[in-house]
Amino acid sequence: MAGIDSDGRGIVFDKVNKWYGQMHVLQDVSFRVAPGEKIVVCGPSGSGKSTMIRCINRLEIHQSGTISVGGIEVNDQRRNIDRVRRQVGMVFQNFNLYPHLTILENCTIAQRWVRGLPRAEAEQRAMLYLERVRIPDQAGKYPSQLSGGQQQRVAIARSLCMEPEIMLFDEPTSALDPELVREVLDTMVSLAEDGMTMICVTHEMGFARQVADRVIFMDRGRIVESATPEDFFQNPREERSRLFLSQIL
Ligand code: ADP
Ligand code: MG
Repeated sequence: MAGIDSDGRGIVFDKVNKWYGQMHVLQDVSFRVAPGEKIVVCGPSGSGKSTMIRCINRLEIHQSGTISVGGIEVNDQRRNIDRVRRQVGMVFQNFNLYPHLTILENCTIAQRWVRGLPRAEAEQRAMLYLERVRIPDQAGKYPSQLSGGQQQRVAIARSLCMEPEIMLFDEPTSALDPELVREVLDTMVSLAEDGMTMICVTHEMGFARQVADRVIFMDRGRIVESATPEDFFQNPREERSRLFLSQIL
C-alpha cells in the first residue's frame, strides 16, 4: 500500500485472529497504517474495535496472525513489547488519570519512572504539552477539580509527554457531556495537523471527515469496509455500513 516503507514502518495487521473463549472477536483482520496516516475506526458496539486497537500495544493478546509496529513484531517477547509501547500512546474513554496525583504529576510520573528523567526536565516537558492542549493553568489541580473535557486533554498531554510516534484513541469523547466534545476533538485535529500517526475509534463523523485519510468499518470482528471518508459517507458499498450510518447520522 502507498506510504508503507519496505521496512514496515507504520502499523501492519496481517490476518489477525483473537478469541475470548469460544467467541471469535477478531477474524482475519488485515490492514496497514502508513506513518502519518489518520484512520477512523467505527462500527456497532461489540464489533471488536477496542480489542483491535488494544492488540497494538498488547493490552490484549491476539492468538494468530501478525501485528507489527514500526517494523517490530508485537509478540510475547518482553523486549518487543517494551519497544512497541514506547512508540504508542493511548487515550481511553474514561481518561484514566491518577486521581491522587496533580495534573502535573500525572504528566511527569511515567517520564520519571519509565524514562528516568530528572524531575525538572519532566516538569518542563509536561508544561509544554499542557500548553499544547491549552490548560497549563490547571497543572496544580487534581483530576476531580477539572471538567471531563479538561481531564481528557490532560490524558492526551500525558501521552504526548512520552513522545509517541503513534496515538491510539478509544472513543475519547463518548463519556463527555456534548458541550465538552468539541474541545477534545479540536486537540485531536491539531495533533493530526502536526502529522501524528493516529487510529481513532470514534463515531464523531465530522471529525472523520475533517482528518481521516481512511475510515475502517468493523462488524462482528471483521473489517467490512475500508474507504476514504467521502466514499464511506456518501457511497458506502456494504449494506451493513449503510445500516450503521443510518443509525448514527
Ligand atoms: P467494541 O469496542 O467494538 O464495542 P470490543 O472489542 O470491546 O468491541 O468487544 C468485542 C467483543 O468481545 C464483544 O462481544 C465483547 O463483549 C467481547 N469482549 C470484550 N472484552 C472481553 C473480555 N475481556 N472477555 C470476554 N469478552 C470480551
Ligand atoms: Mg469499544
